[in-house]
Amino acid sequence: MFALGQLSKHCLLPSIRRTKTGDCGNIIYKHYRALSSSPSCDIAAVQTTVSASVNEPNTLHASRNMRPNGLADRHRACFERMRSMTSVQPDLDATRNVSNMFRPAPSSQDEERELVEQYSSQMPTQLTLRQMADFGRKVNPDTGVASVKFLKNELPCRLAHALVDLDALPSSLLLTAPMQIVREYYRQSFNDIVIFPEYNGEEDAVEYVNRFTSVLKHILIRHRNIVVTVAQGVIAMKKTLGKDVISPTIQEFLDRFYLMRISMRVLMNQHCELFREWLNMTEGGPGSAWREQESLIGVVEENINVRACAEDAAENGRYLISQTYGITAPRVEILERNGSAQFPYVPSHLFHICSELLKNSLRATVEHYGVDYEMEGDQDYPPVRVIIVKGEEDCTIKISDEGGGIPRSEVDNIWTYLYTTAEAPALLESDFGSDPTTAPLAGLGYGLPLSRVYARYFGGDLNVISMEGYGTDCYVHLKLASHEISYEQSSS
Ligand code: ATP
Ligand code: MG
Repeated sequence: MFALGQLSKHCLLPSIRRTKTGDCGNIIYKHYRALSSSPSCDIAAVQTTVSASVNEPNTLHASRNMRPNGLADRHRACFERMRSMTSVQPDLDATRNVSNMFRPAPSSQDEERELVEQYSSQMPTQLTLRQMADFGRKVNPDTGVASVKFLKNELPCRLAHALVDLDALPSSLLLTAPMQIVREYYRQSFNDIVIFPEYNGEEDAVEYVNRFTSVLKHILIRHRNIVVTVAQGVIAMKKTLGKDVISPTIQEFLDRFYLMRISMRVLMNQHCELFREWLNMTEGGPGSAWREQESLIGVVEENINVRACAEDAAENGRYLISQTYGITAPRVEILERNGSAQFPYVPSHLFHICSELLKNSLRATVEHYGVDYEMEGDQDYPPVRVIIVKGEEDCTIKISDEGGGIPRSEVDNIWTYLYTTAEAPALLESDFGSDPTTAPLAGLGYGLPLSRVYARYFGGDLNVISMEGYGTDCYVHLKLASHEISYEQSSS
């Protein structure tokens, strides 16, 4: 394991740029190391040994590194629910007529290719959080069947887009073992949904929906570690090509691919969450009273409390700092302007974004001032400041630190997947994976680019402005419901 002593010494390096500031990459690195140390082992088997996924909003920290009684437990519970669940979809008019009847599994590669082409010729349906929440209020057998009908078309459409995108990749990436697994998983999931029969009106509606929910659950599990696997593919490609940079084409592919993945998981999780009770139906059935009173509709929190979410993320980040460096972490000051910012949002997405930014800021502060800063004199680290402001159109969260900033020449790089200032040799020498309860310090550079994808998913954005020699400001913009647009609209 990466000893804390070693870590502290490592972090005393005068320049922040020499050390790592994140954690997403740790998971990727664990997988990668496991693979590279045993070349003959089955990648899928390796994946199953690690339950956390980078794309499962901070499950690594939520499940392994949070204080047991911390505020962040609320989010952990939420993630656990998201992981195990199901959901439905809105607007029936949005369903399409590609498959109205039972469709047998494509019998040949040609038939499968044709189907993929057919589905990929459609554009994904534009959905908003408001639509998802509205639909989730009416949970009954009819909406269950409507949800299946919607997803039975919408998911293959999105999976087909991803498959087409994958097939267009340069062979140096597509033909890596991890990417071949990713492609196969997408192909399997596409077929799983395409062959699921249309509702015939005779089968019990609840049973029919349950069957579909089970299929989705399998798909969710199958795809749980896809972010990590794709990263492994990119690492393998970089190694083969002997290049340390990712081309703009690959970078754009990764943004698109992860965005599509998030969108599919939201849809699937929403269905699973809304209809999960049907799998163990008790008296009263689905749509029981507690749900009507709850503000969490599926995966959408109708009135997300941004401040509480930032507090949870700060607690999580500070705990990781104290665990890693053996010091009291810098304080995090949170201020709200214009009243409390409450609007519909997916809590795990917001927590992911806040956590990644706060971890970066906290680490930058500690590394810039040095781990002995507080011990050497009667002085505190400058706090990380969070300001939450609700405007007319957006809710903006600004996270400011005095962690030394980022040199201007490197600012563009921070959005590149796998870009990190960590020292790779230190990571390679450490024994990742031997103790899953301890998060290594270093990351692989997924924190910022993936957080931006999450922010953009519902029409928001993430910007970073650095003042080299002083600190960094990160701006998270989240669309308020009244100005809501869907991610498809925002990216078109
Ligand atoms: P992880 O994937 O675990 O988050 P990471 O922190 O290295 O790893 P990013 O969060 O994407 O990856 O950040 C990329 C790089 O940007 C960091 O390695 C760091 O050099 C720089 N950086 C990010 N935030 C800050 C900050 N607030 N102050 C200074 N440098 C920063
Ligand atoms: Mg980071």
